[in-house]
Amino acid sequence: MTGRPEPLFPLFASLETLPGVGPKTAKLMANMSVATPRDLIFTLPTGGVDRTPVVSVRDAILPGVVTVQVTVGRHIAPSSRGRPYRIEVEDAKTTFQVVYFRGSADLHAKTLPTGQKRILSGKVELYEGIAQMPHPDHVLVEGERLPAFEPVYPLTGGISSRIMARAVEAAVQRVPELAEWIDPALVAERGWPAFGDALRQAHHPEDAGDLSPGTAARQRLAYDELFAHQLTLALARSTDRRRAGVVTEGDGRLRRKVLASLPFEATDAQKRCIGEIATDMGQPRRMNRLLQGDVGSGKTLVALMALLTAAEAGGQGVLMAPTEILARQHAEGLRPMADTAGVVLELLTGRDKNRERQAKLDALARGDIAILVGTHAVFQRDVVFADLRLAVIDEQHRFGVRQRMLLGEKNAATDVLVMTATPIPRSLALTQYGDMDISVLDEKPPGRTPVQTATVPVSRMDDVIAKLRHAVAEGRQAYWVCPLVEESEVVDTTSAEERFRSLRAALGEGVVGLVHGQMQPSEKDAAMADFVSAKTQVLVATTVIEVGVDVPNASIMVIERAETFGLAQLHQLRGRVGRGAAASTCLLMYKAPLGEAAEARLRILRESEDGFRISEEDLALRGAGDVIGTAQSGLPRFRIADLERHAGLMELASRDARSLLAKDADLASARGQAARLLLWLTEQDRALRLLSVG
Ligand code: ADP
Ligand code: MG
Repeated sequence: MTGRPEPLFPLFASLETLPGVGPKTAKLMANMSVATPRDLIFTLPTGGVDRTPVVSVRDAILPGVVTVQVTVGRHIAPSSRGRPYRIEVEDAKTTFQVVYFRGSADLHAKTLPTGQKRILSGKVELYEGIAQMPHPDHVLVEGERLPAFEPVYPLTGGISSRIMARAVEAAVQRVPELAEWIDPALVAERGWPAFGDALRQAHHPEDAGDLSPGTAARQRLAYDELFAHQLTLALARSTDRRRAGVVTEGDGRLRRKVLASLPFEATDAQKRCIGEIATDMGQPRRMNRLLQGDVGSGKTLVALMALLTAAEAGGQGVLMAPTEILARQHAEGLRPMADTAGVVLELLTGRDKNRERQAKLDALARGDIAILVGTHAVFQRDVVFADLRLAVIDEQHRFGVRQRMLLGEKNAATDVLVMTATPIPRSLALTQYGDMDISVLDEKPPGRTPVQTATVPVSRMDDVIAKLRHAVAEGRQAYWVCPLVEESEVVDTTSAEERFRSLRAALGEGVVGLVHGQMQPSEKDAAMADFVSAKTQVLVATTVIEVGVDVPNASIMVIERAETFGLAQLHQLRGRVGRGAAASTCLLMYKAPLGEAAEARLRILRESEDGFRISEEDLALRGAGDVIGTAQSGLPRFRIADLERHAGLMELASRDARSLLAKDADLASARGQAARLLLWLTEQDRALRLLSVG
């Protein structure tokens, strides 16, 4: 990484080089993640104060901020300790008082000398019938002027707004003239100001409207931030794609056989995704692709087609699931189709031990196994493939971004397909997966009956159980999800066990099963198997069943304390039913009274089954970090851009970044050079490293 460009030095100097900032203030600013003048220029005002002068406080609405010219009158020293220092002042129509609770008489005499004219600005209030201005924000001599609208910055304890504003202003003045890095056509189309102008406008609002995220200046600055971020991801993507991969092209014979044997036809969305993946696998580059599809959209078939492509080409494919239950279920679901195709599919999990495990590893190393399904056990060091062409990772959000990277390191040439059933808004998908290519299953297989969703207070528990008894008598099956009361598995387990006992008492011994995270794997399997075979009709569970589990006959989902769950999670849970032909029900039980946000979440669920719409609403209700789960999201923190309000800009930035790199992979052109400066300015270290090695 070559050094930071010189024109940017003043923006990365120490904060103490700014007027009014000493070591103490600098330390306090660090609490707001402000370490350099650069950080200050990207800290935009969050509010503003109208300082338009008035003739008299008599014309103002009190209490309120007033800017008015006065003649200073008498100073009245405090009559006793603890009383304030007062100064009478007279404007064009009336007399009022300036009040100080701090400061020396000397200082006050200097600031407001009797007989002189001053312009005061500050909050005026009535105290015992007398108008007074405690501690004016500004005291100006004649001829000095205040901006009519003064920006207000986010503050932290110990830093006054005056110090902050002064430091920001000085930092903004250090911004050099910089060449344009945005596509000029876009700048023209949007009527955006140049970077420096945009900063100056954003820091000098003229009215409240100028504080809105929709102003041209703020849009541009948000775009800069998003563009820098997307440029990093696009660089990562293109570096990745420049790495050699293996061309995996099948002749289609296995895929055709399987498709012909299915009782249904692939949806158009499935066909499109299958095609996109096959094309990508056929390139001499490494595939790094995300398959996004709502629960029940049929991702498994798409994955299988990709795995069969690897097999047709004489290679191997692996499918990794986040849990033992899911790995098993995938293996069982896929085996008949693998048999139809005539390829060997094997399951490998942490439970395989000793000779059995070794036999599987040997077969794998010989290339006798075409498709391996398993948990992360499939990526242990001693697991060696003869010719691994494709890794499919199911339910990605359980793995996290880091594991995705690890996988890439393990086998640099292997094509990677990540599947996620968590629909996330497009802007977030681009933020999190902008370094990947994305295929979207935006259509569900036909013939699903919608799930009836209702909300019920927990006080009606007896009714719910009575209805459940009725349904069980009709042969229906139900999940009963217990609340996530605390961030503790043990507590959740206890509540699940209690519910299990009470439901067993109400519905009968053999009818109810239980599965939770603290059980032994074999116990879990047994409980699941009993439910799959309908030996048990009600399965009490913690959220371990959230992801992927497929029991088509289950048509009732009861979620206890639904208000404590996130929207995406509720949607996932509900997705466990509505898989068969029978009409399904989802009961969201809540403890009254519901808070506003919880009420909104439950309402959205009642209104929609569209995962993408739900995820957009989720984003609107919560912050971006929350939607993905901040801890594992690795989501960047933007200072100006807001993923809800600037959602459209992310898409634009992504396209712009990719198209710039397509023309100018090393950012060597004039615009490329300007973009490099942006990367420095926005501290996109990862991008700068990629550029220096590339
Ligand atoms: P996802 O993993 O995306 O949640 P699955 O792949 O488990 O969804 O598919 C859900 C169900 O839909 C499965 O029972 C599957 O057999 C069925 N299915 C998949 N594709 C189709 C299709 N094109 N038409 C009808 N049913 C389908
Ligand atoms: Mg699935």
